[in-house]
Amino acid sequence: MSNLENLYRQVIMDHYKNPRNKGLVENEEYVKFRVKNPSCGDDITIQTKVVNGLVEDVRHIGSGCSICCSSASVMSETLIGKTTTESLKIIENYYNMVKGNDYDKKLDIGDAVVYSGVSKFPARVKCASIAWQAMEECLKDGKN
Ligand code: ZN
Repeated sequence: MSNLENLYRQVIMDHYKNPRNKGLVENEEYVKFRVKNPSCGDDITIQTKVVNGLVEDVRHIGSGCSICCSSASVMSETLIGKTTTESLKIIENYYNMVKGNDYDKKLDIGDAVVYSGVSKFPARVKCASIAWQAMEECLKDGKN
C-alpha cells in the first residue's frame, strides 16, 4: 500500500469512528431522503437545509460499512457552505471519480478525494455513493 493510500484509509477510518454532523434534527426547514444498498446492508438518511441557494447544514444517520458511513460524514463536511449548484457539480464529479471515469481534478471536493481508490473495487462504488445520492435527491427536491 502506498503512503497516499494509507493516508486515505486513515481519513476514512477517522470519519467512520468520529462521524461529523451525525444525527437528524426536528426541523421542517430540512429536506430528508433515505437510500439503501441491499447488497451491503447500508442504509443512510440525509437531511439538509438550504437557505437562499446555499447549503447551510447537512445531517446524516444510518448504518452500514465503513465506506458508506464515513462517506456520509465526509460529504456533509464537503458540501456545507457550498451553493446548490456547486454541490450538484461536486456530486457529479464525485460519482465520476468513484466509478473510475474522467473527472475534474481541479474542482475542490475536499476530503472526498480519499474515495478515489474505490474505483478499483466495483462492489464498493455503491457503498461510496449512496450518501451522495441521498444528498442529490434532497437538493433536487429542495429546488422544487
Ligand atoms: Zn457498504
